[in-house]
Amino acid sequence: MGVVISIANQKGGVGKTTIALNLGYSLSKFGKKVLLVDIDPQFNLTFALIGMDVINYENKNVGTLMTKESTVEDVLIEINENIHLIPSHLTLSAKEIEILNTYNRERRLEKALKPVYPEYDYIIIDNPPSMGIFLVNSLTASDYVLIPLELSYFGVIGMQLMFNLMKMIKDETNEGLRLLGIVPNKFTRQTKIPEKRLKELKELYPEAPILTTIPKTVTIEKAQAEGKSILEYDPNGKASRAFEKLAREVISLVEG
Ligand code: ADP
Ligand code: MG
Repeated sequence: MGVVISIANQKGGVGKTTIALNLGYSLSKFGKKVLLVDIDPQFNLTFALIGMDVINYENKNVGTLMTKESTVEDVLIEINENIHLIPSHLTLSAKEIEILNTYNRERRLEKALKPVYPEYDYIIIDNPPSMGIFLVNSLTASDYVLIPLELSYFGVIGMQLMFNLMKMIKDETNEGLRLLGIVPNKFTRQTKIPEKRLKELKELYPEAPILTTIPKTVTIEKAQAEGKSILEYDPNGKASRAFEKLAREVISLVEG
């Protein structure tokens, strides 16, 4: 039965899409069957995986799935044997009002995805930074939250917002939601600041599991510019090794 993991942080540019993509590929390398779900109206994950082809999915995407214009089978795209995608689309933000006016609006995604849970090992949802109906739907559908974090002052302070949001979701729609961990991203030793922030993070939130740190490297951006995962672009580089380590960590936390 598929385990659903939301990659979430209300801060933008922290690496949600990068981690959704590369964790997805790393898990597939360990033989896991992965469904990536893009619920961000900015459709970065979709663009990274299918490029301009995204224009063909106006009537078959996560938004039409949530409004029941499409079934889950309609919207699945096979990227390769072990990675499937439910795409987002430019028109997703316009669906927000429509979804807000439907019955059971917080559970639209959960209900729509349930039939395919048994077909995957991991369902990874890439989220928008804004706190709205899309993020609420994905946290409601999720078993776990994985929080990418940039080790800056505002990044560390901002964690509290995520914990508040998780508490609200646990109280209202999804009691079983758990924090899988925080992934410090864009780590560099060029200055002492990230290390100092990491220490502060541990002091502020001693209960929160801190997972594998992802290094800051231009190869991650270069890979994205070519529409590739880091594992395809630079399989032996330090970023690929970090993502493989993260995938192993996720597998051991989830599967025990
Ligand atoms: P989000 O989805 O949270 O907005 P992204 O994954 O789009 O964040 O990342 C924001 C930008 O930072 C992108 O240009 C991405 O290529 C870059 N980036 C993310 N992680 C790293 C990293 N570890 N090293 C270098 N650049 C990174
Ligand atoms: Mg993103």
